[in-house]
Amino acid sequence: MEETRKILVVSREKEDYGLLCKVFSQIDISLEVSAVDDIDDEKSAILPKSHGAMLSLDDAWHSTPYDCIFLNHHLPQDNALTTIEKLQSFAIKTPIIVMIDGNNKQDVTQIIASGATEYISKSDLCLTTLAKILRLCIRLGDAEKKVAQTTQKLQESNELISCQNQELAAQKELIQLQHLKLLEVSQLQSQFLGAISHELRTPMNAVIGFAQLLLRPNFHQLTLQQKDMVERILNNGKHLLMLLNEVLEFSGLENGDITLKPELFDLSQLIKTTIAQVRSLADEKQLSIVIHNQLQNNVVFNDKNKMKQILTNLLSNAIKFTESGSICLEIAELPGNKLAIAVQDTGIGIATGDLERIFEPFCQVDQGNSRKYSGTGLGLAIAHSLVQIMCGKITVNSQLGEGSVFRVELPRQISSPISQQIKEVSPTQVVHSCRKLL
Ligand code: ADP
Repeated sequence: MEETRKILVVSREKEDYGLLCKVFSQIDISLEVSAVDDIDDEKSAILPKSHGAMLSLDDAWHSTPYDCIFLNHHLPQDNALTTIEKLQSFAIKTPIIVMIDGNNKQDVTQIIASGATEYISKSDLCLTTLAKILRLCIRLGDAEKKVAQTTQKLQESNELISCQNQELAAQKELIQLQHLKLLEVSQLQSQFLGAISHELRTPMNAVIGFAQLLLRPNFHQLTLQQKDMVERILNNGKHLLMLLNEVLEFSGLENGDITLKPELFDLSQLIKTTIAQVRSLADEKQLSIVIHNQLQNNVVFNDKNKMKQILTNLLSNAIKFTESGSICLEIAELPGNKLAIAVQDTGIGIATGDLERIFEPFCQVDQGNSRKYSGTGLGLAIAHSLVQIMCGKITVNSQLGEGSVFRVELPRQISSPISQQIKEVSPTQVVHSCRKLL
């Protein structure tokens, strides 16, 4: 259905309205015509209600979106030019047609310059001219409305975007701040852990050293009970030292204090030594340790101690988490001058949901107070960091209740960075100093 167009006539002269209505009635456009007499006499109406709604000019301008305004050039208080200016100051974009009496050129120029859309001479007010002008004005008004609507929508979305941007910026700032705080806390935590374990390690080495000294056959005669007690001191001291070393190593890695000291060595020898060190633990549980070394060439260039540490961590976990069966160590050649070391066990296995987090520091699958297996939860985190520093990767495959395979891939040869080692007092050094003291 055709849209009804709203027309406002602003004139005090009844003839204007009559004339316009007469022509409007012949135009094939559905029109609704309202009329007001003047801008300064807005309450009065020039026409009976039946001929059009009586609106104040203010209402007419603000509440009803007119499609076209017909303005008498000579209004009682103001002239058309002042009214147009006022309309424009209200940002009213409705097309305005000014009705003039004659065809004064000066008037016409002024009217158009003031912002009126068109003018029409009352004497020329015929159907064809009016219909043509009205259609043009309606089209222009529609286009203006669309532009205004689009501009408003754009403004609204701009405001929304700028609000969201502000919120995002505030959130980003907050996240950055929290990130900085977390970094600071984590750094403090590692420094604290490092300092504490370092402080504890020296007396612990002394305990171990003295215990070893007491156990020397030709040092002192101990009763069987005393020997047993000293052996327990020694074993517990060694265990505690191992835990302290783990914490210290971890804090070093966290602070970026540890770099590699590569050297040429025989990997098969290193594996044998490492296994020899953990064999007693496996023997206690009657677990066999099998080695499948498929390497043709066992020489590697890497940090021997750090590689030993990775192997020790994986092997001692395999033993710790296996109650029966065997541990298998497989070493194989990989393309691209790489090596693969796999530690396989027939132990308790790890649930799929826990596999991702076991490499995180302090993560233990069983974290309850009544947990069965001891440890710091740092062994895998350390192994993971060391493997990464060596430009390798560590992966795990596991089946709950069936066992796990930890697989490390490393380049046979790593590049040699400047080394920076942790100051360490070994038990032997302590024994040595003790001897001097005694
Ligand atoms: P820790 O052994 O000191 O608890 P780790 O970082 O070495 O810490 O290991 C983290 C956790 O991963 C262990 O607590 C255990 O839950 C799981 N895990 C590691 N190795 C094995 C394994 N071979 N079999 C089963 N679970 C393992």
